[in-house]
Amino acid sequence: MSAPPIRQVVIVGGGTAGWMAAAALSRLIGNGVTQITLVESEEIGIVGVGEATIPPIRQFNEVLGIDEREFLKATQGSYKLGIEFVDWTRPGHRYIHPFGPFGADMNAVKFHQYWLKLRRLGRAADFAEYNLCAVAAYQNRFGGISPQFRNPVTQLHWAYHFDASLYARFLRRYSEARGVKRQEGKITKVHQRSEDGFIESVELESGQRVEGELFIDCSGFRGLLIEQTLKAGYEDWTHWLPCDRAVAVPCAHGDGAFTPYTRSTAREAGWQWRIPLQHRIGNGYVYSSQFISDDEAAAKLMANLDGEALADPRPLRFVTGRRKKAWVKNVVALGLASGFLEPLESTSIHLIQSGISRLLALFPDSGFSNVEIDEYNRLTDQQIGFIRDFIILHYHANEREGVPLWDACRHMDVPETLARKLALFRSKGRLFRYEDELFAEASWYAVLLGQNVMPDGYDPLVDAAPVDNIARALDEIRAMVRDAAGSMPLHADFINQHCRAP
Ligand code: FAD
Repeated sequence: MSAPPIRQVVIVGGGTAGWMAAAALSRLIGNGVTQITLVESEEIGIVGVGEATIPPIRQFNEVLGIDEREFLKATQGSYKLGIEFVDWTRPGHRYIHPFGPFGADMNAVKFHQYWLKLRRLGRAADFAEYNLCAVAAYQNRFGGISPQFRNPVTQLHWAYHFDASLYARFLRRYSEARGVKRQEGKITKVHQRSEDGFIESVELESGQRVEGELFIDCSGFRGLLIEQTLKAGYEDWTHWLPCDRAVAVPCAHGDGAFTPYTRSTAREAGWQWRIPLQHRIGNGYVYSSQFISDDEAAAKLMANLDGEALADPRPLRFVTGRRKKAWVKNVVALGLASGFLEPLESTSIHLIQSGISRLLALFPDSGFSNVEIDEYNRLTDQQIGFIRDFIILHYHANEREGVPLWDACRHMDVPETLARKLALFRSKGRLFRYEDELFAEASWYAVLLGQNVMPDGYDPLVDAAPVDNIARALDEIRAMVRDAAGSMPLHADFINQHCRAP
C-alpha cells in the first residue's frame, strides 16, 4: 500500500548542488509535487570552485533541454577532452587521461593487450596516440571531424570547464521559470517531529518557517540537516587521500594555450589545477597541511600562474571522505553535504548528478520506506568507493622518491578493492569494471600505464596473431586517430565561432 505522495520539497542551499537538484526536480512540479522551495543565504555564499566536469554532465543538461552553446556562453565555459597529469609519475614526466577508448578491441582481445606486446618489442607508439581525445587535446583542437575520418575509433567524447557560480545562476533562472520558489535567508533552527525525528520545517533568522515533507540538504560542508541535525556521521578517508586544504585563484590568460583539457601538476605537498575558461583561468593548489604551510602553498600557487592574478588567493578546508548515510529519515544530502573526494578527477558535480538520478529513481512517498532508503545509501556508497579507489591510484602509483607526501602515499596500504585491481593488472594487464563503476576500463588503463604500472605479462591470446599483423593494425588505428584529430578546428576558433560569451 502506498502512502500519499510527497507534495512539498525543500532544498536547503543554492550552490551547484542545490540548483542542479532544483532544476532536475522542477520536472516533478504538477506531477505529484506541488511546491519546491530552495532556501539559500547570500551572506553564507557558495564554494563555487567546481569548474571541471566529466562527460555524463552532457546527459544532465540534455535531459533538461539545455542548449550546449547557450550554456557555454552563459557560464564562460570551454570544452574538456581529458586531464593532463604533469610530474605525477616522476618529475619531468607527463601523461594524459583522455575521455573515450584507446584503439579498438580485436578478436575479443582488449586493445591495450596488443599494445603491451608491441611495447615489449619496441614497436609501439605512446599509448595516448591511439586515443582521439588525447591527440586532439595535445593539438588544442575541438569540434567536428571531417566526414571522411569518422569511424568507430574516432568518436569524440567531451565534457566542459565552466564557472560554477555562473552555472548555479543559469540553473536558478531555469528552475525559477519552471516554478521553483527561491527563499533568501539564513536558517537558524531546524524543527523535527517529536514522534520520529523527521524534519518538519526550517526556520530563518527572520522567524519565518519553511515547511516540507522531503528535504534535500545541499548546505555544503556543514551538512546542516544531515549532520548537524540528524547526525549521520562521517567516514574520514584522510589516511588514503591526505590533502585537506586548497587555495584557489583565478588569473588572466597569458602565454599558455587555451587548452581543451585540465592540467594537474604534482607539487611537493599535493597538486595544482589549471582550468581554462573563456574569461579567465581557474587555478588552485590542493595540498596536505601536514606537509606545507598555508602561506607556502599560496606562494607556490601565485608563482605558477599563466597570467596576472585576478583576485586574492582563497583558502578552503575539507576532510576527504563520505557521509556514512546520504539519506536519513526525510533528508537526502547532495553535493558537499554528502561528502567530498578531492577534485583530482572532477567527480563532485557528477556525484550530485548521479545522486539526483538515484533520488528520482527511488522517489519516496510520504511513508518513506526503508527499503528504498537503504538501496539509495547502498548504491551511493558503492559508487563513491569505486571513485575513491581510482583517485587513490594516482597518489599511490608514484615514483617521486624522497618527497615525504609522495613516499607516504607510495607505501600506504590501499583499500582491498584497489589492491585486488592492481594485482590483477600487474599480472597480465587485466582489469574489470565492477557494477556501475563510473570510470571505464580505458580510464584505468590511462592512469595505470601513464603512471608506469607495467604488467609482468599480457593476455596469452595476443600471441595467436602474427606480430606484423598486430603492428600494422595499430599503425592504421594511429593514422586514423591522427587524421581525424588533424581535421578538427582549433578549440579557440570553435569557441569564438559558436560559444563566445557576450
Ligand atoms: P556550496 O557551494 O557550499 O553551497 C552551499 C549552499 O548552502 C549555499 O547556497 C549556502 O548559502 C547554503 N547554506 C549553507 N548554510 C545555510 C544556512 N544556515 N542557511 C541558508 N543557506 C545555507 N567539483 C567538480 O565537479 N569539479 C571540480 O573541478 C571541482 N573542484 C573543486 C575544488 C575544490 C578545492 C573544492 C573544495 C571543491 C571542488 N569541486 C569540484 C566540488 C564543487 O565545488 C562542489 O561539489 C559544488 O560546488 C557543490 O557545492 P555545494 O552546492 O554542495 O555546496
